[in-house]
Amino acid sequence: MHTKIIATIGPACNERFMIKRLVEQGVRIFRLNFSHGSAGDFEHIVRNLRSVENELQHGITIMQDLSGPKIRAGELKESPLSINVGDELFMGPSDQMDRHDPYLPFDHREIIKDLKVGDEVRVSDGGLSFEILEKSGQVLKLRSENSGIITSRKGINFPGLKASIAALTTKDREDLAAGLDMGIDAVAMSFVQCPEDVSSAKHVIEKKGRWIPVIAKLERQVAVNRLEEILRIADGIMVARGDLGLECPLSSLPTLQKRIIAACNQAAKPVIVATQMLLSMVSNPMPTRAETTDVANAVLDGTDCLMLSEETAIGEYPVQAVGYMREIAEEAEKFFFELGTSPLEPKKQVSENFIGYNACLLADKIGSKALVAHTDSGATVRLISSCRPRQTIFGLSPRWDTQKFMNFSWGVVPVHISEEPQDHLQRTEKFVENFSGFLSGEDLVITSGHPKPGVESSPTNLLKIYRK
Ligand code: ATP
Ligand code: MG
Ligand code: MG
Repeated sequence: MHTKIIATIGPACNERFMIKRLVEQGVRIFRLNFSHGSAGDFEHIVRNLRSVENELQHGITIMQDLSGPKIRAGELKESPLSINVGDELFMGPSDQMDRHDPYLPFDHREIIKDLKVGDEVRVSDGGLSFEILEKSGQVLKLRSENSGIITSRKGINFPGLKASIAALTTKDREDLAAGLDMGIDAVAMSFVQCPEDVSSAKHVIEKKGRWIPVIAKLERQVAVNRLEEILRIADGIMVARGDLGLECPLSSLPTLQKRIIAACNQAAKPVIVATQMLLSMVSNPMPTRAETTDVANAVLDGTDCLMLSEETAIGEYPVQAVGYMREIAEEAEKFFFELGTSPLEPKKQVSENFIGYNACLLADKIGSKALVAHTDSGATVRLISSCRPRQTIFGLSPRWDTQKFMNFSWGVVPVHISEEPQDHLQRTEKFVENFSGFLSGEDLVITSGHPKPGVESSPTNLLKIYRK
């Protein structure tokens, strides 16, 4: 399978034997959602993950998911509060509650400051929608556009608002530092709005003397608007369809998904499609027809990774969910290759990109068994992956962080190799000679960096057909 599967860890799958079954079914990345647990809660799970990794000898990437600034209402005077179409409701700081009725306490003054008459406010996972009619100081008067109930501490969304609240909260900083100490391999940031949000996480990681990839979760319209800029700094993107579907018109979600994936493919950065992929499997051993189609279409859209959330975290059928996801992805990939698409040409016309692209063309023409690429940062391997070749890409690197990051890229099998021999081409050839998956007489397309004498390393500049 070329597509990568990410499973969210939760009570339904955090025991060692369950983790092992999920890895056997094809999971290569596990997500720890810090909205539902702290470093202390995840410690023994990380130990279980590492122990399974050792036993099965499959590189496992542990991705921490930071809570971010999830915006919620405060405690209502009377909960639940019934709302009918056309009803008026006041919303503002808790200390103004006694002067208005009915009242929705909301203590994010920095957000109220940015709101204006005519803006939309969505409450309760989008179940209720309001228009702002008046703004008087810190208090807003809203009119409801539909009917429903509000209970205390419901999530609130403001479509299109660039709130001044930073994506990396104090809790997130502490969680990220604790996660790094625990040995996480990647981090996903919730509610990213701008490139600076990603830089702030990178700064925390750097201060800890580490490098791990930062995945920006796209769940705000403002972030979608600034995708190109965010892509320049983020190492990967998650189409976080849960909150994104609240912030944007639901009807635009399928095309947004396609646009975001296409931009990530062009930038040669991995992309994850997440939320409700096989949701009915939380309580059913089989997915719906619509879900199987959604998973297949995400693969055909060009996603690198497919993610499961409550399906594996709290569902009754985590192993079956991963199994279905793998089978659907395999079928979709078969169809993709049946279409006979030649490797996709990179947009950015620089020599490293063309080495990678030409490696794919060559592999296609000579019927190479695989592509074998030596890489330091993993950039060449991501580029080869973005061309979507038919062949498996073996990404060879002596760096562990690169190794863990390559797990996110479509079609890439990360291989850790020693730094001996010094010459990258010799290292690559040594791997081909020793790897039992390649038979004597088979042709392999290999790429590596061949530095000038006296220089230690070089970007990929060498493309070779190697006959074993
Ligand atoms: P996000 O917006 O970050 O996706 P979420 O609330 O949707 O947050 P998910 O990780 O998508 O959370 O998981 C879906 C549900 O599974 C959660 O709402 C929660 O009920 C449950 N869950 C997830 N992780 C855990 C965990 N570690 N422990 C307990 N329950 C969990
Ligand atoms: Mg979240
Ligand atoms: Mg979710």
